[in-house]
Amino acid sequence: MTSPVMHIGLDDTDSTKGGCTTYLAALLIESLGAFRVSFLDYPNLIRLNPNVPWKTRGNGALCLRFIYDSGFEEQIKDTAITLWEEQSAVNEKGTDPGIVFLQTQYVPEELILFAKKAETRIVKLEDALTLIKKFKAEALGFNTCRGIIGALAAVGETLNGDHTYELIAYRQHQNLGTKRRVDAESIFEMDKTLQPLTFNNVDYDKGRVIITPRGPDPILFGIRGETPQVVKEAYQLVKPLEHVERWVIFRSNQGTDAHLKPATSLSSLEPYSSVIAKGIVSQNPRIIPLRHVIFSIRDDTAEVDCAAYEPTGDLRKIARELIVGDTVEVYGAVHKATPKKPLTINLEKIKILNLATKTLFENPLCPNCGKRLKSMGKNQGLRCEGCGGKFPDLKKKELSAPRAIKPGLYVTSTRSQRHLTKPLRRYGLEKRQYESLPMIGDWHSSFP
Ligand code: ATP
Repeated sequence: MTSPVMHIGLDDTDSTKGGCTTYLAALLIESLGAFRVSFLDYPNLIRLNPNVPWKTRGNGALCLRFIYDSGFEEQIKDTAITLWEEQSAVNEKGTDPGIVFLQTQYVPEELILFAKKAETRIVKLEDALTLIKKFKAEALGFNTCRGIIGALAAVGETLNGDHTYELIAYRQHQNLGTKRRVDAESIFEMDKTLQPLTFNNVDYDKGRVIITPRGPDPILFGIRGETPQVVKEAYQLVKPLEHVERWVIFRSNQGTDAHLKPATSLSSLEPYSSVIAKGIVSQNPRIIPLRHVIFSIRDDTAEVDCAAYEPTGDLRKIARELIVGDTVEVYGAVHKATPKKPLTINLEKIKILNLATKTLFENPLCPNCGKRLKSMGKNQGLRCEGCGGKFPDLKKKELSAPRAIKPGLYVTSTRSQRHLTKPLRRYGLEKRQYESLPMIGDWHSSFP
């Protein structure tokens, strides 16, 4: 007889004032040690639709998957529920914790589809509850219970396709809320040594470290990479200047573009989703206050605006160079139309497929003396200021001007990438499927 398998999904326990659902997962992993569970996978850190209006920060949810001894089933559940209650900021507005237990060898296909939907669109709590009933899962929630959506989606996202890893190091309680102390130079060094196998460590444009979050949460830093080994190696190269209380390696959909769905046409774009949409530039870029760049694209069905905001860095510079007639594929979040703004795609990436010819008009040289001719007014021909010659039949010459941009893929600056955005560094490193290799010896540790 095969041993039973349990999946525990967790979400929405933190608030803007503190806490972190990954930290709850780290504590739970340690507590489950008492029941001699055997983990089937690294804890899964699943990023869901980044456009849900009610997210606290990065819309992350967690799932732990393990084999257990059925004699401990109730104790395992009680331990998880007690910790989840203790770590949830239930009195904070907008914190709606959820926990889901599913006992099954294989995650049902319908749950996998639910997870994909939760990564790309808005899903309903009723739909989550229907699936929970259908598959005899168990769920608990506080307040609006909305966290059950994310907790179930984390259970359903088995990360069988492309995936990455993140080693998260946590701070000691007494340091929470203070400035994070990590040696920046060691992070730059680590990035250089281990690139391209770790990513989004630093923003070279601004010379800034981006593995340390800001805010009161317990994360000291998180290192993202392609394998559990490489994030652990990276951890050994980074020098923390404050005590690390514990660390854990997570497996994740971060950096995989899991949130982007190809759109069949521009008229089919849904607000709150993230899309890949193709079109022809129909209105030249305009710069709006604070240096944002907006241009429009159209296809046979509709016209939409595309916005490259100031923090997108080089992407904004690329967007500024587009002209009417260029064919592009745009990647980003769809924002609904308002009385002031049409439907807008907030750009994360632009793929330039084809550049239109940019034409320039230039007055020809004087056939008599070689000086550049001047216009005599609309439809009145040209004259020469050098020799005084008049040429009523000569016209401006049409030239093709060089373009400052080339076809290719352009990605928003590292600092403005969403957790799910696949950075340029990962192109070519994508994994087709998950090979369930034995987990590395030490994938979590604590130093109380
Ligand atoms: P974290 O801080 O852990 O990165 P977050 O705090 O930004 O994540 P949550 O506090 O978990 O996000 O809030 C997101 C809420 O939205 C959760 O209650 C979750 O269940 C819900 N949710 C997530 N994805 C969807 C979706 N696609 N449709 C509807 N609700 C969703």
